Amino acid sequence: MHCPYCHHDDSRVVDSRTADDGAAIRRRRQCPSCSRRFTTVETASLQVQKRSGVLEPFSRSKVASGVRKACQGRPVSDDDLAVLAQTVEDAVRALGNPEVPAREVGMAILGPLRSLDEVAYLRFASVYRDFDSLEDFEAEVTLLRVERESAARLRAEDNSSEARTDVTQKPGQSQTNQKASRKLESKSP
Ligand SMILES: [Zn+2]
Repeated sequence: MHCPYCHHDDSRVVDSRTADDGAAIRRRRQCPSCSRRFTTVETASLQVQKRSGVLEPFSRSKVASGVRKACQGRPVSDDDLAVLAQTVEDAVRALGNPEVPAREVGMAILGPLRSLDEVAYLRFASVYRDFDSLEDFEAEVTLLRVERESAARLRAEDNSSEARTDVTQKPGQSQTNQKASRKLESKSP
């Protein structure tokens, strides 16, 4: 690798260590011509193919900043976002392809974001999955509520207690809830 300062066409590795929990190798290099030192980072190539077809390197900070917009005003910290971005990277790398469509990255964000914050999830999903009507939101909210209730039921059964967690509702929400349950009833045979 050539020297970034004087462009001498060679450099010598003076130190080499793994970084990022083994996902990367950092090498300290020295230029034999100008003697200046610089660091290179080697990671397995992971490129994201945007809708336009353009490839760009996968970036955890891009994932975090994309999700951060959906988290405005929500109790989600930068640490939460960093963990989410790492989870997304692991999931995307696990697909086993050096190039992944941006869509797959978006898909990998949905699950972890939902466990992090349901409101932020709805915001993100509405943009990402092109919600274009109130019904789209309603269906998604219904799904979230059903899953939350069945999770609560499971927890209650686990505790083998009769206590049932009831979510306190604001007046505006109860209507949606009624609609949602109507929708559920009409879906069941
Ligand atoms: Zn140099």
